[in-house]
Amino acid sequence: MMKSAYLAGVYAEVERRNPGEKEFLQAVREVLESLEAVCEKHPEYEANGVLERMVEPERFIQFRVSWVDDAGKVQVNRGFRVQFNSAIGPYKGGLRLHPSVNASVIKFLGFEQVFKNSLTGLPMGGGKGGSDFDPKGKSDGEIMRFCQSFMTELSKHIGQFTDVPAGDIGVGAREIGYMYGQYKRLRNEFTGVLTGKGLKWGGSLARTEATGFGLCYFTQEALQCMRGESFAGKTVVISGSGNVAIYACQKAAELGGKVVAMSDSNGFVHDPEGIDLALVKQIKEVRRARISEYVKTRTGASYTEGCAGIWGIPCDIALPCATQNEIDGEAAKLLVKNGCKVVCEGANMPSTPEAIETYLANGVLYGPAKATNAGGVAVSGLEMSQNSLRLAWTFEEVDGRLKEIMKNIFHNAYNASKECGVEGNLMVGANAAGFMKVADAMVAQGVAY
Ligand code: NDP
Repeated sequence: MMKSAYLAGVYAEVERRNPGEKEFLQAVREVLESLEAVCEKHPEYEANGVLERMVEPERFIQFRVSWVDDAGKVQVNRGFRVQFNSAIGPYKGGLRLHPSVNASVIKFLGFEQVFKNSLTGLPMGGGKGGSDFDPKGKSDGEIMRFCQSFMTELSKHIGQFTDVPAGDIGVGAREIGYMYGQYKRLRNEFTGVLTGKGLKWGGSLARTEATGFGLCYFTQEALQCMRGESFAGKTVVISGSGNVAIYACQKAAELGGKVVAMSDSNGFVHDPEGIDLALVKQIKEVRRARISEYVKTRTGASYTEGCAGIWGIPCDIALPCATQNEIDGEAAKLLVKNGCKVVCEGANMPSTPEAIETYLANGVLYGPAKATNAGGVAVSGLEMSQNSLRLAWTFEEVDGRLKEIMKNIFHNAYNASKECGVEGNLMVGANAAGFMKVADAMVAQGVAY
């Protein structure tokens, strides 16, 4: 519950203006509830109406995306881009292609992105976009035609100094390629308008690995500083088997952890001997097939239909890397009961408010998404820097910067938690630290942004 009348009033107005948008309301509520101490200390935020402005996107674009499928039939999807906040830099945030995409999902992701980007220390504002297009089962030609149509409209609203989208669920190197090609054709310019580009045409080394690696760098630093421990010898469960999950699995294993389970949207595999990541990559990245195929090769592993059961596998560390609200209160209780001590989020908002309450009440080291998965957008920021410099850094250089950024994010969140009087509550710390930089910039820039 919000004690501050100011924050409660802001939230009531958000509820009134955005009825039924449950993901967006959930994300806003969590942030506002974390900002009581900050707003008490800084009356200038209320005086300048900072929170009222922050919960309202600067711009929200919705558009029709029509394209022709392989059978010659016209298909229509809905496209979105939310340009949430540009106080500290051009809008920046991924594009998601998934049937569950709607205004609420895009706004929750865009809102979170504002704080996450601020935490990286790089000059990036927050945005997000996508479509309810389902890439599953589509041919390469269909993906290309959809991406071209999507970019034809999106290109009117983005630019290297305005808004720089990237990948997210359903948008990887292939989709970024088709979108970039279309932007270039329309504009006749070769600029860094998208990140996650191919290495031969402006992409950055380590971008593919960045979110998963960054999640593990954060987790390792938090374990070391808050518990005097590390990944070494720990059992790890990771949901998802996409970009974030795969590279989280690789880094967790490199740091000495044993990853025993991964999943996709149909079910999960449990491999007590440790996940064979090369096999997962072959199935998910090369063949674009289902994770259930894993057990055909690894006969000691088991496959279970349905995603939620993965949280019943005993582990020391859980890294949810699939999607929003994938751990509910019951799943969180099960994790705790089976001895899980650490939950760090690779996906955006994977834990429901009840799950977070359970972690905090049971002393679980909880790393919230906006801090823990900021590695992806951080390296996207580094890709923008390299594009501006017309230079390409080595893998080691980018990975080294990523590691430093993730360590700094942990320490900033941890220190802010102390300043807010809730030492070790990294959710409050991350929200407060991410918020203040953007809030100060908004105050300095005056009311009409
Ligand atoms: P991918 O599309 O590469 O992979 C997503 C994975 O999650 C797949 O295994 C997918 O299964 C599974 N999944 C997707 N939707 C659901 C669902 N509704 N229920 C269960 N499983 C599901 O996406 P990413 O790895 O890029 O993204 C994963 C999460 O990480 C998202 O929350 C994203 O916003 C977040 N994130 C990503 C960043 C990035 O750099 N890519 C940066 C920061 C956050 P299936 O194969 O069956 O579809």
